[in-house]
Amino acid sequence: MDSQKKHDTETCQITTRADGTLVVPDRPVIPFIEGDGIGPDIWAACSRVLDQAVDTTYGDQRKITWLKVPAGEKAYGQTGESLPEETLQVIKDYVVAIKGPLTTPVGKGMRSVNVALRQRLDLYACIRPIRYIKGVPTPMRHPERVNMVVFRENTEDVYAGIEWEAESREAEAVISFLKDNMGIDIEKSSAIGVKPMSRRASRRLVAMAIQYALDHDLASVTLVHKGNIMKYTEGAFMRWGYEAASEIFGDRIVFESDGELENDGQSPSSKVVIKDRIADMMFQQVLLRPESYHVIATPNLNGDYLSDALAAQVGGLGMAPGANIGDTCAVFEATHGTAPKYAGKDKANPVSLILSGVMMLERLGWTEAASAIEQAIQKSISDGIVTYDLARQMPGSREVRCSQFADSVIERLRCV
Ligand code: NAP
Repeated sequence: MDSQKKHDTETCQITTRADGTLVVPDRPVIPFIEGDGIGPDIWAACSRVLDQAVDTTYGDQRKITWLKVPAGEKAYGQTGESLPEETLQVIKDYVVAIKGPLTTPVGKGMRSVNVALRQRLDLYACIRPIRYIKGVPTPMRHPERVNMVVFRENTEDVYAGIEWEAESREAEAVISFLKDNMGIDIEKSSAIGVKPMSRRASRRLVAMAIQYALDHDLASVTLVHKGNIMKYTEGAFMRWGYEAASEIFGDRIVFESDGELENDGQSPSSKVVIKDRIADMMFQQVLLRPESYHVIATPNLNGDYLSDALAAQVGGLGMAPGANIGDTCAVFEATHGTAPKYAGKDKANPVSLILSGVMMLERLGWTEAASAIEQAIQKSISDGIVTYDLARQMPGSREVRCSQFADSVIERLRCV
């Protein structure tokens, strides 16, 4: 690389300080994975909205240069790899990236590219804010009472991908080992999966969730687990969570069990309240008393189920953004999948990916552009201009294509 080019690369690269905060140049290069299925449609809509918001807000002063990197079905077709090493390296180098959804075949073929990406980059927290946008049709009578941020552990649990097919040599070996060494009888034709959960991964996830609550002035963090049944994995997640809370955050937090709370469950001294709930009960709580919960920290599988259920409460998967964050890089992504039946039809709702882009702008510190997009989306929805998924539940609305929804948001961005 000649010296001028090297200089250009350095001045457009986001870097991470020792304390984890970012140094963001005015013209950062941000890698993107377009995604499979509806990915190309929603990415095209999303990138146009992000570019317009940055342009309207900052003019010539700031601009994102997008760098396309391959992953998923197309990458597999071209290179034989669903997640090329070069893609991982580019994301590591540029620190912040955004992606569309990627296909994972069920019960056969390659393991999930999404899971591999999170594990290889050690993106240990999947963060999903769930907030209601006024005017969006939902099954709830009071969706505005839902305002939570889910921190889902991203690297362990049954998602670690340690499992063996029924009657395979490996499954039979594990079954024999358990019988011979621990006297445990497992039906011979069983498939076997392993659920690892460590102190280190549980503590860092809970610590990130509590830090987020402190930074954003949120009243509580709830550890959601199934420790009554899985005592040494999910139960330990809860114990390690409480342990991290008290060791790292000291008198900035208070335990619900200490009993010094107001009637609404909040701390009289504005400390963050740490509490825990069993996962099945939590699914009732988020329907019946959503206003009592602010930040949720939970293992991988619980978090996957809970964040989709919460997304449905505020209007469905098409509306729910997400981010995968580690200590050294972050990948922002829509919560939903590739919705194959709408692939290439310019029909899907791009809001989930656009709002993931909003989270990305917030992480860059470009909060003015982020809030301009939120306002423009809100305006388009309250003007009744929506994609099919909302239109079918909003009598009197105007159904538009994915690209037309982006046009509508861009038009409103110019007036924000
Ligand atoms: P999905 O792709 O999320 O789609 C399920 C349904 O959700 C769609 O049929 C559609 O419902 C609705 N939906 C999803 N995205 C939407 C959008 N942007 N706009 C409007 N409606 C939307 O789930 P799936 O069918 O179970 O998964 C398909 C593939 O995606 C699988 O290979 C899966 O592994 C993968 N996946 C990837 C990710 C990821 O990349 N992070 C996440 C989840 C799943 P209606 O048909 O009712 O309109």
